[in-house]
Amino acid sequence: MMAPHQYIFGPVASRRLGRSLGVDIVPAKYCTLDCIFCEVGRTTVKTTERRPYVLPGQIIQELQARLKDLPQPDYITITGSGEPTLNSGLGRIITQIRAVSSTPIALLTNGTLLYRPDVRQDACQADVVLPTLDAPDQQTFELIHRPDPSITLQMVVDGLIEFRRQYHGQIWLEVFVVDQVNTDPRKVESLKAMIDRIRPDKIHLNTAVRPTAEPAVPVPSLSTLRRIAATLGPACELIVDPGDLRAYQAYQKGLDDKSILALLQRRPSTLDQLANGLAAPASQVQAAIDRLLKSGQITAETWTDQVFYRLAQQGPSQT
Ligand code: SF4
Repeated sequence: MMAPHQYIFGPVASRRLGRSLGVDIVPAKYCTLDCIFCEVGRTTVKTTERRPYVLPGQIIQELQARLKDLPQPDYITITGSGEPTLNSGLGRIITQIRAVSSTPIALLTNGTLLYRPDVRQDACQADVVLPTLDAPDQQTFELIHRPDPSITLQMVVDGLIEFRRQYHGQIWLEVFVVDQVNTDPRKVESLKAMIDRIRPDKIHLNTAVRPTAEPAVPVPSLSTLRRIAATLGPACELIVDPGDLRAYQAYQKGLDDKSILALLQRRPSTLDQLANGLAAPASQVQAAIDRLLKSGQITAETWTDQVFYRLAQQGPSQT
């Protein structure tokens, strides 16, 4: 017997979709990507193979039972604990949802499989499609998304351009910002040129405000986000709540500072040693070091051409 609410979750309050009732159509965590910022956690099965992971009948039965208990949500959102276009029954699932509900249907996708005609045909059934594109070059794409080896950025962009040509519904493109990875003004200009070819109806600028698959994903400042939004033009909207961003920055800062102080308590270390020890990007460790130097909690000294950091008033190293 089917467990209650196996495939349906929410409604959740979504900044982009209002009261959104989620439909989860792939298992955790099957995905074409392994994004450093994923809130579901690390991808366990990285694949591009489409399969009927969940059958439409299983979903519709549960959805109908759930809709009976609820005021009408703003959207029924097809998503997953992974990439929903991996479900080969996606088109039939959307058609069957439409047959039992007049609520608009949104599809949250990473967009990587839209180069395939069958995936485009399925996605065309939704009222709103929300794909992601945030890398202007292959290196940045790999750094942020750690894709299945068969997927290139060029395929993703070509797929989105072709999808725009075929699809008459709304495309709301998410651009996820990782500080110092895709924030450089030249990278943002290149990304804008790509987005101009896709012609989304809206661009949603986003960043991490909750714990991510990798613990130290660098978060940009509000002014960086505003600068990027201005470059991307009037269709671009910042969907991050500034209060959430500040709270998350404080959370990250606290973690980083404490971790660095704990390592330095054991021995003076260079930037590289700290970054390796914390498995964190050097840029983020450097930012924390700068804060700690400024607040006087650590000092820097050069020894054999290398800069070592130590706790303020720390005695000689014990190692
Ligand atoms: S595409 Fe979505 S589900 Fe897949 S790893 Fe990225 S954020 Fe997570």
